[in-house]
Amino acid sequence: MTGPRSIGYRLTEEQVLLRDTIRQLAFEQIAPRAAEIDRSGEFPEDIRQLLASQDVLALPYPAEHGGLGADLLTQCLAIEAIAHACVTSSLILSVQALASLPLLLGGSKEQHARFFPNLASGKTLAAFALTEPEAGSDAAALRTRAVRDGDDYRVTGTKRFITNGSVAGLITVFAVTNPDAKRHQRISAFAVEVPAEGFKVARLEHKLGIRGSPTAELTFDEVRVPAANLIGAEGDGWKLALATLDRSRPGIAAQAVGIAQGALDVAAQYARERKQFGQRIGEFQMIQAMLADMDARTEAARQLTYKAATEVEAGAHDGTRWASVAKLIAGDTAMAVTTDAVQVLGGYGYTDDYPVERMMRDAKITQLYEGTQQIQRLVIARALLGKAE
Ligand SMILES: Cc1cc2nc3c(=O)[nH]c(=O)nc-3n(C[C@H](O)[C@H](O)[C@H](O)COP(=O)(O)OP(=O)(O)OC[C@H]3O[C@@H](n4cnc5c(N)ncnc54)[C@H](O)[C@@H]3O)c2cc1C
Repeated sequence: MTGPRSIGYRLTEEQVLLRDTIRQLAFEQIAPRAAEIDRSGEFPEDIRQLLASQDVLALPYPAEHGGLGADLLTQCLAIEAIAHACVTSSLILSVQALASLPLLLGGSKEQHARFFPNLASGKTLAAFALTEPEAGSDAAALRTRAVRDGDDYRVTGTKRFITNGSVAGLITVFAVTNPDAKRHQRISAFAVEVPAEGFKVARLEHKLGIRGSPTAELTFDEVRVPAANLIGAEGDGWKLALATLDRSRPGIAAQAVGIAQGALDVAAQYARERKQFGQRIGEFQMIQAMLADMDARTEAARQLTYKAATEVEAGAHDGTRWASVAKLIAGDTAMAVTTDAVQVLGGYGYTDDYPVERMMRDAKITQLYEGTQQIQRLVIARALLGKAE
């Protein structure tokens, strides 16, 4: 039994206003760039500037440090609105929030005052470096090492698939500080300021989708990090990583909902216009059924995502489960709905004359990062059955 679910939500006037403002911004200034960002595969610096100048990047930070102090649901609304136009662009906000969460959750007041103003203004971008070549789903097996040396730590290791790793000025790095401790107590989190001696962007991935979002392999060779940049206490790293994912997975779900809605809108518009057999294809019942299913699935995923964000924000005892349930359902929805959108557009959907093929490629990542769909199922099952260890 998982107990009653009683925390409801209703969007406030401010949330609706913010969502509509960002939707408009995304429609007018981001959507027209989306195809070119995908084609060039270059990080959209102009969109970063736009989101910074419009205070969108300030959403996750406390007001006392130049942020807007937005709750998780509000952040999800913003991510969804941007992803509707361009998933790569939505990742700028998602990853800024993701990488700042360990500091928000476990950082000191001094660290907040030192780092948040530049993150909130968008002057500094942040990245979150957990994954390693040999530690993907099994992230706790990471090997990057941080060795105390006077007032510093020396960090050595390789991080793989780090979004914004090549454009970030601050990287939240998870590293082993005590190899002899129990598996989950070996790890600590550090705020690593880059560029730094010994730090290198070793390579950038060529990807199926979210092509304008840089995914970097980062190497650390005895990089000196002040002990003042340790987040929380030694050994807190794994706990911070898990708490971070609880709060960021609803954001990935929101991204997925945004993609699904974007694809549905294109498909519905196309079905109103395209004629075959002397009639609009939207008059064929098989097309109608597809559109109806796409709409129903997208709406279901959206409501689940908002509910999960509300539960996590409220500190619900099963927030971890909610975050995984939302990411699982929304990611699969985005994949199914974007694939169906290509189907509705027929051969044209398969070409880059229309955005649905890009959306289908972009959707796939929501089933992979921040824990694959298999890992979400493991998390949900563990919540139901209890821990195996
Ligand atoms: C574009 C992109 C951006 C990313 N951004 C970041 C980032 O910013 N920061 C960061 O730290 N990481 C990031 N990642 C890493 C991402 O979170 C990992 O790729 C993901 O967690 C899966 O790890 P893996 O790729 O090593 O796959 P693996 O763990 O090798 O998994 C391979 C397959 O095995 C399955 N599998 C693994 N373990 C189990 C199990 N116990 N039970 C059942 N099935 C299992 C998986 O579901 C998957 O299908 C990013 C990845 C990509 C592709």
